Amino acid sequence: MRDIILDNLEFIQKKITACCLQNHRDPKEVKLLLATKTVHPARIQIALSAGYTCIAENKVQELGKKYDHLKNSPHNSHFIGHLQSNKIKYLLQYDVGCIQSIDRLDLAQKLNQKLKADNRFIDILIQVNTSREESKFGVSPEKTLDLVRQIALLDNIRIKGLMTIGLFSTNKEKVRECFRLLKNLQLAIIKADIPHVSMEELSMGMSGDYEIAIAEGATIVRIGTAIFGARIYPDSYYWNETRA
Ligand SMILES: *Cc1c(COP(=O)(O)O)cnc(C)c1O
Repeated sequence: MRDIILDNLEFIQKKITACCLQNHRDPKEVKLLLATKTVHPARIQIALSAGYTCIAENKVQELGKKYDHLKNSPHNSHFIGHLQSNKIKYLLQYDVGCIQSIDRLDLAQKLNQKLKADNRFIDILIQVNTSREESKFGVSPEKTLDLVRQIALLDNIRIKGLMTIGLFSTNKEKVRECFRLLKNLQLAIIKADIPHVSMEELSMGMSGDYEIAIAEGATIVRIGTAIFGARIYPDSYYWNETRA
């Protein structure tokens, strides 16, 4: 029997394409990144085998547990969860191509140190707290440009853009404001013309708000529930500092 995951993937990809066309954007500009927290490796494998190969985890330990199951299927691995500096050395064991959740200088410095020692480089996005909710991680919008300037000086880290989690709200205009803020920050950083900084990626939009995010310029949408179904754990398990 055909797995529901395949139907969901096709459905979401079609919606992304339609949304791009509606907004006069090239569908190739928007990548579908699968948020796979709590999803069993066998189910992730179904998506990988169907050619949906960009996946993301939130916790280093969970990434590690799934790593051996998935390492023989080619894929691009992103990290989208809150990162503690004492987990960096573990995270770097798992072939992560992009860390989307860098939000403070000391974390970036420790990451850079470790990369330098290993003679490696990594792509990162700067996570911005556009909703200003205390429960959310990310640098404040006011401090983003400064943080980018400082991280840009670290040799082994390549800044590729910005990431945000939009406000959880049924008020679509409030959600849209978060995404528009991230877009405006991107434009301000491009204008500042900082050496070694690329601002090509805007990672914004999840199952409930990716269409708004695409309309506002997202280049990466991170989708979990709409593809793999509801999770047992509440999101606070992944997003709350005290339990992270
Ligand atoms: C879980 C998660 C997503 C995906 O959320 P869904 O609502 O399940 O699509 C996106 N981004 C981050 C940072 C996440 O933790």
